[in-house]
Amino acid sequence: MTHLVANDLIIFMDNQKVSVHATRKFGRGVFADRFIKKGELIAAFDGPIFDEDYEPWTRDMYNHAIQFGRAIWRDSKGMARLINHSCEPNCGIKALFKVVAMRDINSGEQITWDYEMTEKNLHWKMKCKCGNKNCRGVIGNYSNMPLEVRKKYKGHISEWLTSPSTKAKTKIRPKLIKKSI
Ligand SMILES: [Zn+2]
Repeated sequence: MTHLVANDLIIFMDNQKVSVHATRKFGRGVFADRFIKKGELIAAFDGPIFDEDYEPWTRDMYNHAIQFGRAIWRDSKGMARLINHSCEPNCGIKALFKVVAMRDINSGEQITWDYEMTEKNLHWKMKCKCGNKNCRGVIGNYSNMPLEVRKKYKGHISEWLTSPSTKAKTKIRPKLIKKSI
């Protein structure tokens, strides 16, 4: 049997201490069911990879896949795509695809990250109503993230935005390789 497999396919597991619930204002969200320690992996973008030529880009993909190169995005198979944005998040991005706790998270807290930790393109932005006193109002492009916020997130911003070597690598379109099992 032959499958097509993206060459950087990595299987991640969602953290067993989180689950999906309805939120009061923002549709579904991911919440901590138990205490989660700083540094723990929450979920990861481990799903299909799309470039800008992909057809058809759906509204669902547009709103849930994350950017990991100049013109390339990845969705998740698990909960990662349902984690909401906050301008005062408790999680950040490690490497390119991992959502990791930036601080200790208590049971019952909603899991959030800042979508500008991965996005840098002209095509996507959203009005933010996270309600935090530091809310930046419109979210969409890492270039607009204030310096003090970048400093606060240090080590938790996607490597394609912070590491020149990763940036160079991700300009290459993902090659599909044939894998026989
Ligand atoms: Zn906000």
